[in-house]
Amino acid sequence: MNSRKILRASLALCTTGLLFGSGVQVASATGQADERGAQAAARVVTYDSSGAAEFKDAVTQGAAAWNESVKNVQLKPVQPGQRANIIVVADNGWPRAQPTSLGNGRVWMGRQAVNEGHNTVRIASHELGHILGLPDVKPGPCSSLMSGASAGTSCTNQYPNAQEKASVERKFAGSKVYARDVAPKFALAVY
Ligand SMILES: [Zn+2]
Repeated sequence: MNSRKILRASLALCTTGLLFGSGVQVASATGQADERGAQAAARVVTYDSSGAAEFKDAVTQGAAAWNESVKNVQLKPVQPGQRANIIVVADNGWPRAQPTSLGNGRVWMGRQAVNEGHNTVRIASHELGHILGLPDVKPGPCSSLMSGASAGTSCTNQYPNAQEKASVERKFAGSKVYARDVAPKFALAVY
């Protein structure tokens, strides 16, 4: 290789180096690791609200509130024919949730609390919070999602606070979720 060819090769390497540095997607070891990290970051948890009767929209809004608030898990409507992680139904009792494992379980959109004046979207978001691994924090202020009914019927906040968001992000962070999926200890939780 003569000196001119060496110079050309060096320039080519420099250009590649610039591309690496500018964040352009290249097949470097680091780039692949980052991509895997990003893919693992959002775990999709599906829900089936076909049994939620008049509360279907509230469930959609409750799920949207979570999707806006956290990035490690996203709630999506289940595709037809697929088995959902979360089954949401309506009944005449008090709203409640039965998580079976992290990100899996059943939600009852109970009409009793709705008839007493509690906000349907907050109820949905709160119960979804249980399925995402959060316990009740009662009594608590309206700024807390998991304070549930204790914040009173005037409370319409459907968003988790910073602490609640951070807790869900931790639970669904990386590979830890799989370890915790195995044998969670969850009880029936109410609104
Ligand atoms: Zn609750």
